[in-house]
Amino acid sequence: MENTRVEYGKDLIMVRFGELSTKGKNMKDFIRRLGLNIKIALNGFKTLSYEIQHDHIYIGLNKENFDEVRKVLAKVPGLSSFSLVEGFPRDLETVEKRALEMAVKSGKKTFKVIAKRTDKLFPLDSMEIERKVGSYILSNLPSIKVDVHEPELEIHITVRENVIYLFSESYPGAGGYPVGIGGKALVMLSGGIDSPVATYLMMKRGVKVECIHFAAPPYTSEQVIVKLRDLLSCLNIYQPDIKLYIVPFTEIQKKIYEVAGTSYAITIMRRMMLKIASRLARSHKDTVLASGESIGQVASQTLASMAAIERGSDIPIIRPLATYDKVDIIKIAKELGTYEISIRPYEDCCTIFDVKDPTTKPHFDKCDKIEKSFDFQPLIDQAFKGITYEHITSKKDSEF
Ligand code: ATP
Ligand code: MG
Repeated sequence: MENTRVEYGKDLIMVRFGELSTKGKNMKDFIRRLGLNIKIALNGFKTLSYEIQHDHIYIGLNKENFDEVRKVLAKVPGLSSFSLVEGFPRDLETVEKRALEMAVKSGKKTFKVIAKRTDKLFPLDSMEIERKVGSYILSNLPSIKVDVHEPELEIHITVRENVIYLFSESYPGAGGYPVGIGGKALVMLSGGIDSPVATYLMMKRGVKVECIHFAAPPYTSEQVIVKLRDLLSCLNIYQPDIKLYIVPFTEIQKKIYEVAGTSYAITIMRRMMLKIASRLARSHKDTVLASGESIGQVASQTLASMAAIERGSDIPIIRPLATYDKVDIIKIAKELGTYEISIRPYEDCCTIFDVKDPTTKPHFDKCDKIEKSFDFQPLIDQAFKGITYEHITSKKDSEF
């Protein structure tokens, strides 16, 4: 990513990394990746400029609307917080005057000046800057007092080699890590409410995600695929290119229904899904699988069920939602914009099985016995061969 130097004296956004700063020598890669992800997410704002430093990323606003930029920036994983800062030539008198204006405008009763120097050659040290600007404000605004512990207003001053930055407000970032620095996972995407949220949570921890969906045409319609595309489009802001694999699953499902008996049908179906997903993950060097399962949500998600199902996989399964309540999952889904898409009334491949009595305590031995009672391998091979894929990519710049 090119590092265009931002023009000083203009409004800038100062981006902080949070968790990243603990990562020692990998930090450089993380910051570069974060810079790239920010740039991709803000692609629609054509005149922004970027400068990547070891401690912050600076984004020159160049007349773009801060509130619009802010909404997008707050979603990018890996940012701890950011501020709109004003840049000044290195002349403390001008900075003092502007800091006083800020204090007056805020109407706050208590304040504190917090100064930082990255240029140690600046004639005043941080404490001296704080004292000088603080006393200037106190002597010109009698209604305000200093409170070093819980000030209502924080005035931050950062002195760099050729500029002084001034800001008072910080906006929270999404936290987590920049997508792409945490390896690769294959997420099982059903089209329900949970799995898109699980996909997002994986991305938020820096993991690059691919998705796999098991479709059962003609029992499931093409509309399900449209739904998946729409769901993943909502997540393109976090990962601009998401690969979606579609597995033709109808024949396997029909066979399971014949041989498993209703109480084990769902368990065996999940195990078959995992067999195929882990084979695909292995062949694409995805390190783990992930799913939207949540403990106790349905019969196939009791601890006993999940244990029996997981024995069908030789790759670890991450379940980001394992401990989440449904209301909390829905809250995130609404924030992501996936909720309204997830509740569209298209049938899932599970609807082939109208199971009234799914077991909540499947036995490993019984699962193995059912799977040995019929040779599923040719059907699994056939499904694997029939896998298709597509890339779900960011909307056009104009639609950002
Ligand atoms: P969701 O809301 O994501 O559909 P759910 O609560 O409805 O989840 P299940 O239908 O039991 O739960 O599915 C549990 C998990 O199994 C899903 O979150 C998803 O990760 C995976 N899964 C279920 N059906 C499919 C499918 N057709 N294709 C891919 N993964 C699936
Ligand atoms: Mg579902």
